Amino acid sequence: MAEKLTTIALDADDTLWHTERMFQMTQTRFAALLAPFADIETLEARLLEAELRNLGHYGFGVKGFVLSMIETAIGVTEGRVTGDVIAELLEAGQQMLADPIELFDGVADAVAELAEHRPLILITKGDLLDQERKIAQSGLGDHFEAVEIVSHKTPDTYAAVFSRLGIDPTLTMMVGDSLKSDVHPLLELGGWATHIPHDYNWSLEHAEPPLGHPRFHQITQLADLPQLIATFR
Ligand SMILES: [Mg+2]
Repeated sequence: MAEKLTTIALDADDTLWHTERMFQMTQTRFAALLAPFADIETLEARLLEAELRNLGHYGFGVKGFVLSMIETAIGVTEGRVTGDVIAELLEAGQQMLADPIELFDGVADAVAELAEHRPLILITKGDLLDQERKIAQSGLGDHFEAVEIVSHKTPDTYAAVFSRLGIDPTLTMMVGDSLKSDVHPLLELGGWATHIPHDYNWSLEHAEPPLGHPRFHQITQLADLPQLIATFR
């Protein structure tokens, strides 16, 4: 008999629309600006260290990323970085925050179809204003019963969200591109999780796939989700 599923929760960044490629492009620009001071490997390693160190202060998102770039620029140049370079980094951040979102292929139709059968909720990390802007721009907002912008995606965060919304986690599936943030916490809560891998991998989101777990699925694109959900009741 088909398993029962009452709610579908979706991640947003790099699940519904592109995000990480913009971070990668900005990081390339950052490396070019600081090329006179350090090679690209050093710059990327130092930036990643700064992001890790600052995550607890700034949370996830563009603003924290820009501050970490500036901190790294000051560090690798031993304080010699010019105002022009800092201005360019700030400008790069502003451009990220103004970048129009681009949905992955088939997302609009898939989300509309899924919403016809079960309540959908959106659970995303990031800067509040930026996430609100992207959701509004996506045109998908009306399909979601609830939109949750959270600071972390741990089992505790999910449990708190589900409890507030009166949702049973064991009858819920979370779908997203991050094994660490979207998949493992749900499995830990006894729920379902579907992973959609993508080309870019942010090192901080790395985790091993729980291959063989009975409540774990993998699909190649969100457009394939309705087909998977059709196997549930
Ligand atoms: Mg994501």
